[in-house]
Amino acid sequence: MELEEIDKSKPSKLTKSNKIYNAQHLVFIGVIIGLIYLYNFNYYIFHGTAEIFSCIIAGGIFMISFSTYQFTKNNFFMFLGIGYLFVLVVDVFHTVSFGDLLLSTHFVYDLDTRLWVVARGLELITFLFSFIYLYKPNTKLNGYLVFISYFAVTLFLCLDIFIFDSFLPPMRLKETGITNVKVYFEYVASLGFIICCLLLYFARKKIDKSLFILLEISLIFKVFSELAFTLYFSFTDHYNMVGHILKVISYYFAYMGIIVNGLQRPFEMIKIENDNKIKEKEKQRIYMEEVISQNELCYDWIIDNSSNGIVIVRGGKLVYANSTALSMLGAKDLYDLIDKAVTEFLFDSSIDLKAIVDDSESPNFKEITLLKVNNNETIDVEYSVNRITYRGNPAHLVLLKNLELYKEINYLRSYLSEKKAELSKSKEYNRVLTEFFSNISHDLKTPINVILSAVQLLAIKKESENYEDFSMQLNKLMKIIKQNSYRLIRLVSNLIDMSKVDSGFLKLELKNQNIVSIVEDITQSVGEYIRAKGVNIIFDTDTEEKILAVDSDKIERIILNLLSNAVKFTDKEDEIFVTIQDEDNSVKIIVRDTGIGIPEEKLRIIFERFSQVENSLTRNKDGSGIGLSLVKSMIEMHGGKISVNSQEGLGSEFIIELPVNLIEDNNECEQGQNLGTNSRIDSILIEFSDIYSIN
Ligand code: ADP
Repeated sequence: MELEEIDKSKPSKLTKSNKIYNAQHLVFIGVIIGLIYLYNFNYYIFHGTAEIFSCIIAGGIFMISFSTYQFTKNNFFMFLGIGYLFVLVVDVFHTVSFGDLLLSTHFVYDLDTRLWVVARGLELITFLFSFIYLYKPNTKLNGYLVFISYFAVTLFLCLDIFIFDSFLPPMRLKETGITNVKVYFEYVASLGFIICCLLLYFARKKIDKSLFILLEISLIFKVFSELAFTLYFSFTDHYNMVGHILKVISYYFAYMGIIVNGLQRPFEMIKIENDNKIKEKEKQRIYMEEVISQNELCYDWIIDNSSNGIVIVRGGKLVYANSTALSMLGAKDLYDLIDKAVTEFLFDSSIDLKAIVDDSESPNFKEITLLKVNNNETIDVEYSVNRITYRGNPAHLVLLKNLELYKEINYLRSYLSEKKAELSKSKEYNRVLTEFFSNISHDLKTPINVILSAVQLLAIKKESENYEDFSMQLNKLMKIIKQNSYRLIRLVSNLIDMSKVDSGFLKLELKNQNIVSIVEDITQSVGEYIRAKGVNIIFDTDTEEKILAVDSDKIERIILNLLSNAVKFTDKEDEIFVTIQDEDNSVKIIVRDTGIGIPEEKLRIIFERFSQVENSLTRNKDGSGIGLSLVKSMIEMHGGKISVNSQEGLGSEFIIELPVNLIEDNNECEQGQNLGTNSRIDSILIEFSDIYSIN
């Protein structure tokens, strides 16, 4: 039954041997029957045959384990083998001493029984210790030490039995038959072999299944054999015979397990030894396969989900494209691309494909325009080509970067930074505007307050009876009222002009006029005021006449604004230069001063509206910061431009460049056509209202 199961579990390997096995079993059954027959015929021959049978198997176990050790390195078998060698030796002594067969009765009476006990004891110890190597296959086995130990123990016990008779107690007595010691020993041996059965059962996974079953059966028969030996009285009685028959059966199964397996299936034996290692290796292999397959899945995933297009080309044809490449080339699936020639995708058909391939391994990406599969659309990409082995054959891997995407990203980036800049500009504008309105309200309130205070003071003085005091105060207060009124007018007219510029209502009244005389007149008109502040003003020109179409009112405001700034930011003993340069097609008007200058970082915003260079600086010099922006607007309305050079501490230079334009419907060339004297004085007083107390 058991063997059939074994056969089923290893059908391919054992089928050929089945017949041999069956024959062996038959022979064995014959042997058992023969032994029983011999027992009835002659007990000694029965005993001798049974023991020799066991000895041959014990010798076989030793031979097999010893000779296969160099291949199997199986310490379990090796230990069993060494143990059985000594069991064999003692059993041989037992066999030949049985019934005074060969050894003389000069020795102890129960010589054969004592030798039997020693042999069984050695056998039990051998089994028990051998499990160490089954449970812990890596435990080192020192064969020589084990051999010497067995030799010493066996020698000691044999010497005791044969010579000294002092250590082992009698096992069988002439009168009473087997002693209690012998009976107890057999019980202990039975128990020991039961333990061996259990130990083997728990270690069943560590050995070949068929070997386990055969060894287990062998051990079970050993247990029953030992129990049978507890019962006999005379060694020729039935219990003794049954004990021996069971022992022979036990050895037969051991023979089947160890010797037959060892001889007929040596590789299976090796497998048993290396089973754990092989299992470990198998586990590693499965694990590695899993890792590799997971890696492959991972690579596939990475390749397929790469943001770059990946195309594999062999023999000028596409053999693979990832999903990004599919969408870049406008393909629905791989079949739209597979086996298509690369040239079909080149927008510029003159491109030399060979040169591209030759240039593979170059790390640089190059730009190219590709045709999509529908042939109507194109896509700009960057590509790089690398040689690879694809499915065992050489191929080229082409990486494609979608430039449209990059372009779009770059566009969005620049759009974003533009918007950010606009936002910060608008924030800054808001800040400046808020500041401007707070300045403006201050600038508006200050002269009004001054005027109001002056009027209130006049009202008080008028009530006073001291007329002289009143008329003295009247003049002084009138001047204050006048100057502050000018300041208000300047500010309000600047604001009005500013809104006119914004709404496009500021118009020029152009007339062909001599710009030199206009500028010279204005300079002279303010000369008196400027010099009164201790600042010298010098006018210089390289031409006396330069006719161009200008709005003299605006030119006057421009020059007055520049001069009032120059005066504002100069101190006593500084100088102001007004220079005119004829540049044929244009004329340059330069207003230079040796005043405090303008810090470099502020120069670029000086013409922007509300650009008070430095609050701390400008707040003590009144001004709204509209002047220069209006100047710039008015110059630009003339088609000209204005620039500034300045160095802090050294002074500033404003350069106006006006183009020489003439208008046709100007009937007469009005030279020096200026505003009336009073009007000019008003303009000066208005423009210089921040600077002077009006006399
Ligand atoms: P406002 O209308 O208040 O006079 P402007 O627009 O004319 O203002 O001038 C703007 C700012 O430019 C001034 O507040 C001053 O800081 C600076 N600025 C203009 N001209 C000069 C100059 N000649 N020297 C030094 N700073 C100057």
